[in-house]
Amino acid sequence: MNLPKQDSEIWELFTRKEEYNGCSHDQYDRFPYYRSRHRDISIPRVSQVLIEGGYHCEYPEAQPFAICLTHDIDRVYKPFHSKGLEIVTALKDRDLARAGRIVPQLRSKKLPAWNFNEVIALEESYGACSSFYFLALEEGDRSYAYAIEDLEQEMGTILDGGCEIGLHGGCEAYHDLEQLRREKQHLEKVLNQTVSGYRSHFLKFRIPDTWELLEQAGFRYDTTLGYPDCVGFRNGMCHPFRPFNMNTGQEMNILEIPLAIMDQTLLSYMRLNTEQAWAQTERLIDAVERHNGVLTILWHNTFMTGESLRFYRKILKYGHEKGAWMTNCREIEAWWQKNRMWPPHESLMACP
Ligand SMILES: [Zn+2]
Repeated sequence: MNLPKQDSEIWELFTRKEEYNGCSHDQYDRFPYYRSRHRDISIPRVSQVLIEGGYHCEYPEAQPFAICLTHDIDRVYKPFHSKGLEIVTALKDRDLARAGRIVPQLRSKKLPAWNFNEVIALEESYGACSSFYFLALEEGDRSYAYAIEDLEQEMGTILDGGCEIGLHGGCEAYHDLEQLRREKQHLEKVLNQTVSGYRSHFLKFRIPDTWELLEQAGFRYDTTLGYPDCVGFRNGMCHPFRPFNMNTGQEMNILEIPLAIMDQTLLSYMRLNTEQAWAQTERLIDAVERHNGVLTILWHNTFMTGESLRFYRKILKYGHEKGAWMTNCREIEAWWQKNRMWPPHESLMACP
């Protein structure tokens, strides 16, 4: 048997070794892509090594690969001033009737902007379903934007539509076990069911601390591990995996379903035009198809309009044409669990 060579580049990429021991973080306490020494993350290099070593993945009904669809719900109300603008526009158009219809809405401080039904219907039309991550914060918490109790009915519709609801952890949960537990319990109380999935707001994450906290709080999976400033495979994986904790030398009892594409990263932070963004998306989908992997996509509910909605539809269409299993994280986690498909760490440790 090969002795573990724990200093190999593949092993370091897989474990995110460079993120241990007080590495520098950005203003949101995140490790950004621009500080990483692993420059090419458009190729899932670790998954590639695993497959060359005999690692094999199968999906229901012999689908060749999977696209995991997710939505973070940061906001559900329109900003108050947007209604004022709508009235001004209506008045400019001399459309008094339209202006008159908007005025009564101003009395309510809450102007719903949710579109969950439309999202579910769109995905259904491509044979897909998705995960929705909700904030479960209290008034006064940072990033508090809505009371989760107000969305009870909408969340019922999401679950009835075959989708999943997970926790979108607030600004502190990623490093505060008590806060993490509070938010989980809050969401579970409103949902009246256990929550097993997690994604951190702003993709705030500390390796391996956040995984440890999620494990302790009883989550089955996390799907935060992606860079906010670049799409691709942060630890070279396009397959869900069990993280290896370098502090304890142990495999962790939680599944990471790594995030590859976030709407904002692709359409804003990377400063790509639509054609370049699509070329990049196609490249990532094709790479995951070649490796029989899972591509996780984050599309916020607030990106489900205009150009960015058209882009999302294009992804669904492309995935559908390729025969991908387009599903939510809970289904992926259950499938991985059932078939014990997380890759063995030993084969990576032994990499030259
Ligand atoms: Zn968020």
